[in-house]
Amino acid sequence: MRQKITILGATGSIGVNTLDVISRHTDKYSVFALSGHQKINLLTIQCIEHSPRYAVVIDPESASILRAKLQEAGSDTEVLCGVDALSDVSSHNDVDIVMAAIVGAAGLVPTLSAVNAGKKILLANKEALVMAGGLFMQAVKVSGAVLLPVDSEHNAIFQCLPGASQGLSESGVVRLLLSASGGPFRGLTAEQMIDVTVEQAVAHPNWSMGRKISVDSATLMNKGLELIEACWLFDASPDQIDVIVHPQSIVHSLVQYADGSVIAQLGNPDMRTPIAHALAWPERIDSGVAELDLFDIARLDFTRPDLESFPCLSLASDAARAGMDAPAVLNASNEIAVQAFLDRRIGFTQIAAVVKETLSASIFNEPESLAAVQESDSKARSYAASFILKIER
Ligand code: NAD
Ligand code: MG
Repeated sequence: MRQKITILGATGSIGVNTLDVISRHTDKYSVFALSGHQKINLLTIQCIEHSPRYAVVIDPESASILRAKLQEAGSDTEVLCGVDALSDVSSHNDVDIVMAAIVGAAGLVPTLSAVNAGKKILLANKEALVMAGGLFMQAVKVSGAVLLPVDSEHNAIFQCLPGASQGLSESGVVRLLLSASGGPFRGLTAEQMIDVTVEQAVAHPNWSMGRKISVDSATLMNKGLELIEACWLFDASPDQIDVIVHPQSIVHSLVQYADGSVIAQLGNPDMRTPIAHALAWPERIDSGVAELDLFDIARLDFTRPDLESFPCLSLASDAARAGMDAPAVLNASNEIAVQAFLDRRIGFTQIAAVVKETLSASIFNEPESLAAVQESDSKARSYAASFILKIER
């Protein structure tokens, strides 16, 4: 029996890589549903190639375009429309695996639907966990869903931890070492980053990714979000996690043990490795990634992050320590600020200013429900948006 998979965010960088891995193992996996928001041409091609039962888009206009294109191509794929349809294809009885690869807060509800339905979830959408980690992990516990990290660092840590799901200290773990490439502006001062362009910010030296995560990698907010993500995934406190800058992106993260051992996962910087790992876990399958050639790489460097030049990392680590809905506020204001930067309304270094201002204007509360998380999220978005109106260029 082939396992049926829903890919939320199929047209994105993670989605495309997931389909690449799946296409190497059509004997093991079949595509149940694909979702996309903007690139309807790409979604059409993906539907023709992978024949999913459903394709989901958000707005009715995209739905009619997609329907027409698929009909013309003689495809049997049924087109569904709207955010509820995302949840439907994530929780459908016939689905075994859900790849959560929508970017940002928009991925939270459909990912939670997959969790509540007890699916095997391959989690790329880190923002979902940052926003609602407590509720999310509780839902995993209740439903018995299997949560596997796709984010390369978390996937690496997962691979370096002992199999049984006991606490970190019971496993003799002293520290998690989270790798960071340092992004395209590593080595620059905050002042030198004032006038960097959108094009420079999205040009990551080692990874090819969507625009939002590329900007997050450039500000180091991505590492901050990942610190929070790691706290939830591995039941760690922020003090148990160190960020290490490793510009070659070969050592994807490490786990330090009480006996002095440090276990690392290495590989070429290609997301198909963590995707294939999570997809096949606990087995191993070919991902299409070239074998690592250590002689070719020759050296691996490690340095401390520059917190002064990259304040987003400290803002995230403060939010992790503050707990409650501080990470949701951090994430929401960051999403708004990154979009404003991509729209060329604010400068690169103003992203941190927007997040900092929104966090300091917020009174944090423990979010007891999804509705409470969504309220914190939308309040922070409005605050950040109005602050941007005051500072925009
Ligand atoms: P991307 O921008 O390339 O793709 C995002 C996908 O989400 C697209 O399919 C898009 O259509 C869809 N989408 C966007 N807005 C939506 C909305 N409002 N409603 C429904 N769908 C929407 O992003 P990506 O680089 O593939 O990243 C996806 C997620 O994976 C992010 O959370 C990112 O942090 C995480 N991630 C990505 C990488 C990577 O290498 N790209 C690595 C680690 C983690
Ligand atoms: Mg990562």
